[in-house]
Amino acid sequence: MSETNQDWFDRALRVIPGGVDSPVRSFRSVGGTPYTVVRGEGAYVVDVEGRRYLDFVQSYGASLLGHAHPAVVSALTEAVALGTTFGAPTPGEVRLAELMCSRVPGLEQVRFVSSGTEAVMSAVRLARGATGRSRIVKFDGCYHGHSDALLVAGGSGVAQLGLPGSAGVTAGAVADTTVAPYNVVPELDETVAAVLVEPVAANMNLVAPRAGFLAELRAACDRVGALLIFDEVITGFRLDYAGASNAFGVVPDLWCFGKVIGGGLPVGAFGGSAALLASLAPAGPVYQAGTLSGNPLATAAGSTVLEYVTPSHYERLSARVERFAASLAEAISAAGLYALTPRVGPLLGLYLSREPVDAPANFAAAKAVCDNGLYAGFFHAMLERGVALAPGAYEILFVSMAHGDAELDRAVEAAGEAAAVVAAS
Ligand SMILES: *Cc1c(COP(=O)(O)O)cnc(C)c1O
Repeated sequence: MSETNQDWFDRALRVIPGGVDSPVRSFRSVGGTPYTVVRGEGAYVVDVEGRRYLDFVQSYGASLLGHAHPAVVSALTEAVALGTTFGAPTPGEVRLAELMCSRVPGLEQVRFVSSGTEAVMSAVRLARGATGRSRIVKFDGCYHGHSDALLVAGGSGVAQLGLPGSAGVTAGAVADTTVAPYNVVPELDETVAAVLVEPVAANMNLVAPRAGFLAELRAACDRVGALLIFDEVITGFRLDYAGASNAFGVVPDLWCFGKVIGGGLPVGAFGGSAALLASLAPAGPVYQAGTLSGNPLATAAGSTVLEYVTPSHYERLSARVERFAASLAEAISAAGLYALTPRVGPLLGLYLSREPVDAPANFAAAKAVCDNGLYAGFFHAMLERGVALAPGAYEILFVSMAHGDAELDRAVEAAGEAAAVVAAS
């Protein structure tokens, strides 16, 4: 019988490449053996050895209310008994689409898919089909899922593993993708179908958009007739009640969603105006499909989360994270390291260094700090103290609505101790 994390990981290594189903879960960049999770409860996860961790991974942002929230569990229990997939329209997908469109100004229609990757891939196809143009402009360090055309300069796991892109992606597949530095408005021309951006960059640690960046991008797209796509797979319904487009007052042509809108189940969505979405099959010529798209379990969980939260939930979460960010930086500095804890709403980054550094405004600057070698030691010292951060310096901290002040205080205390360990090493 397998009982330790090592036993399970050894078994995983035999039958699953690298022992993980997504490279960001591996401990490749921090060393050691991943903990294997058997259950989650609110702000915590429990591994096969019965160890309980205060969890700041939260499925990389998919979990907003915390793990196994009773409202989500009961919605899923009810939904599962009715059948799990039909290949026919269901009320659940209509309800979730209505909820999303009623909240996000400018969002009139959404098409559901099963992951964020699919959402962005499909939005790009739609943008190309609707404009009749080929080129896509993306930003260095922004992650948009693992579809071929977007797997260049990708941030997150790609950056963690030190890869420029991926083997198996042909030059042809990325020939129409141009990469620009974040926070600088790129030169555009009439060959550009779309500019794709994370409105808050959250896959190269946290990089906030400088004031005016998103509005200037909007104007630059309008000048040449290119579409603006906001990849809100992280920011959507996490940054605030209506996502980043609402928070920054910039309306894109297309939105991509994932993570939070599935309430912890596999889902993604892309959307925009009804006029633009009319280009999609069956009404239009841009083909896009999915056997499990709009799955009734996923839409039940997603709707439950969106119905549960109110604007004041987000305000409280942001306020809590604001205090947490300040205390975290203070505790780490007091222990002899320097920490930057940039924050946009409830999204929180963490950069560790020996000397004070400026808040990174692009991937090159983020990389200079993230690759300084301090994170691995800090990560393990935190894990030993029962606090689980993502096993990579390019990920942000996900504070769920189940993380109360007591949890955050504990994390601050652990961070002070962990920083002292790293400072002395
Ligand atoms: C996670 C993520 C994706 C990909 O979503 P998956 O569900 O992992 O395919 C795309 N864009 C952003 C900004 C993400 O953070």
